[in-house]
Amino acid sequence: MAKTPIALIIDDPAPRVFVYHEHAGKETVQDGRPIPDNVPNSFLFRFCDVVEKYGIRGKFSVVPMAGGRGRIDEGFSGFPYSEIQEWVDTVKTRLSPYFSFCPEILTHHGYIDLSTMQMQGERENEWSFRQTSKELTPYIAFGLQLLKNVGIDATGVTSPWDFGEKNEDEYAKAIAYAMDEVWGRKESWYFCRSVYRSNSEAKPWMGYEDATHKCVAIPGTISDNIWQSMDTNDTSEEYISKIADNYLTADGKSGKILEVLKGGGWPILTTQWQSLFSNGNETGIRILGTVAQRVQEHLSDQVQWMCHEELMREALKTL
Ligand SMILES: [Zn+2]
Repeated sequence: MAKTPIALIIDDPAPRVFVYHEHAGKETVQDGRPIPDNVPNSFLFRFCDVVEKYGIRGKFSVVPMAGGRGRIDEGFSGFPYSEIQEWVDTVKTRLSPYFSFCPEILTHHGYIDLSTMQMQGERENEWSFRQTSKELTPYIAFGLQLLKNVGIDATGVTSPWDFGEKNEDEYAKAIAYAMDEVWGRKESWYFCRSVYRSNSEAKPWMGYEDATHKCVAIPGTISDNIWQSMDTNDTSEEYISKIADNYLTADGKSGKILEVLKGGGWPILTTQWQSLFSNGNETGIRILGTVAQRVQEHLSDQVQWMCHEELMREALKTL
């Protein structure tokens, strides 16, 4: 019998810029420690170590105009371009065997007026709700193009926050046409926050389809339990094991991953760059490693890690 797909969704990564700091709207995490304004490249290296060790697959966002601090192909204010280049090169060489890439349009902060290239005060998700595919297509195409300019091959798109959720038909159509415009591809996928975001029963659905294009929505099915590692200085093995238990216990007998499998769904875990970074403690990476180790130990005969392009192809067999 074919194994069930399992995948990991990573939202919000960007080279050096800590995107969460840019839009968090607060200066400190819950226990009062300041939120750092950058993420060292060594964090990405340690993330890659865990991915390679366990063969974790899924999708990895790249925010191409992180926080509105510049463009990924020109640089972000405050950092030498060599550091941006090192991050991009690492993503391409070490993560492309495992992850599908996507822009998380464009700034994950204010929307960009494409005629002036200036970031506006309104968040891009709020802006998105009033747009049709006519306005959304060039916006999305620009995000895909920026990643293409640095050699990152994106096969899908992720919404910052709930971008496109209230006009999802227009949004999905815009993704299909932007992907065709930039890469000549007729098939694409997207991840949008919605009621299905962390619903264990959620299945991929056809977001947009016409005679020549297909755009598949791939929802997450397991919510981000790693997020809480940002708000504590507890980095003990006990803490890590306890959070990992939410996904799969050490004995392999319970946890969200099993619940989704029993319900006939695909375990698609959702997390964020800031969750894995844990406000500098990187506890989140260790939690991820523990979960992946438990999956390998207890479920390797039942599940198979897949990147989002593979999930899309799997979904298209039945959609
Ligand atoms: Zn995000």
